[in-house]
Amino acid sequence: MHSPSTDLEQAELAQDSKLTPIPVTVAAGDGIGPEITAAVMSILSAAGAHLDAEYVEVGEQVYLRGNTSGIPQEAWDSIARTRVMLKGPITTPQGGGYKSLNVTMRKTLGLYANVRPCRTYKPIVTTRHPDMDVVIVRENEEDLYAGIEHRQTQDVAQCLKLITRSGSERIARYAFEYARQHGRSKITCMIKDNIMKLTDGLFHRVFDEVAREYPEIQAHSQIVDFGMANFVHRPEDYDVVLLPNLYGDILSDIAAQMTGSVGLGGSVNIGSGGAIFEAIHGSAPDLARDVANPSGLLLAAVEMLRHLKLDSIAAKVMNAWLCTLEEGIHTVDIAGAHTKERAGTRRFTEAVIERL
Ligand code: NAD
Repeated sequence: MHSPSTDLEQAELAQDSKLTPIPVTVAAGDGIGPEITAAVMSILSAAGAHLDAEYVEVGEQVYLRGNTSGIPQEAWDSIARTRVMLKGPITTPQGGGYKSLNVTMRKTLGLYANVRPCRTYKPIVTTRHPDMDVVIVRENEEDLYAGIEHRQTQDVAQCLKLITRSGSERIARYAFEYARQHGRSKITCMIKDNIMKLTDGLFHRVFDEVAREYPEIQAHSQIVDFGMANFVHRPEDYDVVLLPNLYGDILSDIAAQMTGSVGLGGSVNIGSGGAIFEAIHGSAPDLARDVANPSGLLLAAVEMLRHLKLDSIAAKVMNAWLCTLEEGIHTVDIAGAHTKERAGTRRFTEAVIERL
């Protein structure tokens, strides 16, 4: 646990607070989105983060007004200016014709890496996997998500799995650089190249080639079915896990759930056009009544502060959040043996702010 601020940290905080506000795009999203976004923004503000938040509307209401991407031009213009977005979860309306806003943003902005830290907070949050501290790095643009899907006949549909050398090299290099910068010592690449010898075979081969440039980091590969089964059984065996898009999508949700609640997970989509920070969960419309856990979006926001080089404020927020959990103030999704107070979204937010 972080100790009270040192003189150096105090000096950094003072330095940070003198800087001109940093522009960031903020979209509150749908369902619980507005509640958890307000919670997070109030914590960042109380912590002294000088952000110039440009609020934009994306999501359900934009779709329902007839914009099939769910993203109006003002939002694109804002992201082009700020290159950093904090995004609440979005409800995709039922029925056909609505394109996934998340996929559109990733492709348009070239956000080729999805990074999702998943760790357990023992013994504060009850989970069957107390020793897990993993970062999932998922390729975000290729594979079966490339959008090359068509109907051949009324009864046959086809989806093309696209893996390129350049895409594989870029994400493998990202994973190794991430491991180097964050002091992580091992990367496991999960693929199914015993069956998909050309596509997953290429991803695997490029991983091995890039690994040779990082001799200080152990590089392993596993067939994805066994790899995921072992991950669920022994998550402590893993440090950084690198996967193509579809497998990454699946493992990152499994890993988040293993930490105790999807409400604890944050992630970043990052690439040439900027970075989007968001919770891993959806808009959970049934919970939009002051009960949702704002922690996933808050942890994403902590990563955003680090991305903006506001490291001391990030540490301050992280510390206050951990103190809140340690003192047993928990939202209902993580309530368990160590809970002393069951808090709603607003009360939990106040508790974090009181501990800054
Ligand atoms: P969901 O993540 O909204 O909910 C799944 C489960 O997790 C529910 O039981 C919910 O109550 C719980 N949960 C989620 N967030 C929580 C939080 N902060 N605190 C406590 N519990 C939480 O997934 P869903 O129900 O499948 O989807 C709802 C909507 O969200 C759909 O429209 C879907 O398309 C959308 N969605 C959006 C994103 C995104 O914007 N990135 C991601 C996933 C789903």
